[in-house]
Amino acid sequence: MGLQTKNFTSDRLVIQPVAFENAIRAIALEDCRFAVGPIRWHRSGHYREAIVSHLAPVVGTINLADHEPRADLLVLGMESGCRALLSHLQPLPSQNLVLLLIDPENYERWECVLWDQGTIASVDEVMISTSGILSLSSNEPNARPSDTEKWSRLEPIVGSEGLAKIQGATVTVVGVSRLGTEVASLLSTLGVQRLRLIDNDVVEPQNLSGIRMLPVNSAGTPKVRALAMQLQTLRPELDLSICDQSALSPGGRDFLRHRSDLIVTCVDSMAARQAVARMTHDLITPHLDVASEIQRRRDGTLEMFGDARLLQPGDDGCMLCVGGPEANVRGDLWYEMGRPESGLIRGPRREWSDTRAGSSILLNSMLAGMGVQMWIDAVTEQTRGSRWLRLNWSATPEIIEGSSVGNGPCPICGRD
Ligand SMILES: [Zn+2]
Repeated sequence: MGLQTKNFTSDRLVIQPVAFENAIRAIALEDCRFAVGPIRWHRSGHYREAIVSHLAPVVGTINLADHEPRADLLVLGMESGCRALLSHLQPLPSQNLVLLLIDPENYERWECVLWDQGTIASVDEVMISTSGILSLSSNEPNARPSDTEKWSRLEPIVGSEGLAKIQGATVTVVGVSRLGTEVASLLSTLGVQRLRLIDNDVVEPQNLSGIRMLPVNSAGTPKVRALAMQLQTLRPELDLSICDQSALSPGGRDFLRHRSDLIVTCVDSMAARQAVARMTHDLITPHLDVASEIQRRRDGTLEMFGDARLLQPGDDGCMLCVGGPEANVRGDLWYEMGRPESGLIRGPRREWSDTRAGSSILLNSMLAGMGVQMWIDAVTEQTRGSRWLRLNWSATPEIIEGSSVGNGPCPICGRD
């Protein structure tokens, strides 16, 4: 008789925040008792996730016979008694249902069960995925170090709940070159407990002047490894996962599909940025993109600027339709997103100096700080919803707020 291994799987429900808020509003106004939406299943580590992007209020009673016999559905209500409701609903053995019932007197109290082919299991974690605005998670962030003196300057600014959310977060950084390293080191310094880093480049000699965390002997090492070693030296307790493949490769895509509370892109590749945009839309995850650019004007002066865009799931736009490439250049983008690694590159190979006058760690550092601050503002509920800020560094520096509502129909987030 061989050894038996047991696979522990937990179930997690992830609901798009705007869909959730609208459904709760409709139910609270007593137009209806329930809202129902289709489930997409996703596996992330040892979690099996039920992802729900749309919820429709149901007037009158729910009739499961109206749905496909193999439909997997979420039923959301504001009352108690999942088991009584299940016996009333009488799902078919072939239907998988998740029931989420919230106490109308106290939103903190809720019950969530999964009806899986005739068996009932409790769902322990519910994420209303946005940067910390709403959460029914039973897993309170507990990663906060007990060293209160250490955080005595940060805590008064972000509050104890904010600090717990920041430090309990899992953040994925895509691209750990000049900008991504700044972002990752700021997050680590703020006490973020779990960092996931992905980049397929190796350290080149010119990186040693523009990336703060690199030791001089790291040329030739994958960037993620060089950064991870430095971060781990400074914070041995940091929970780090790294991937040295491209975000567009099968291995990279698998790495990115692990649940994060935030995905940050600091990449030159438009295709990698949009592949992450599609993933954050599908998995209902906040997406922060930070980018910098330096151009030399005809009169010889420098134009230094950059953008930080924090796009919340369920808001009206993604990285493609909010400040992304114009529709007429998207053909090359789709090609690049779908191109196998060994496939031909379209168009001429471009050198960095074809499009930019240089790179500055000072500009990158300012933009990384701006982007991380935008996330902290959202986590601590200083701001709500998506935001796009542009920093223009000139004789009179300025920060301009752009519209975070998408422009035109979008094939990634589906706005029309
Ligand atoms: Zn979009």
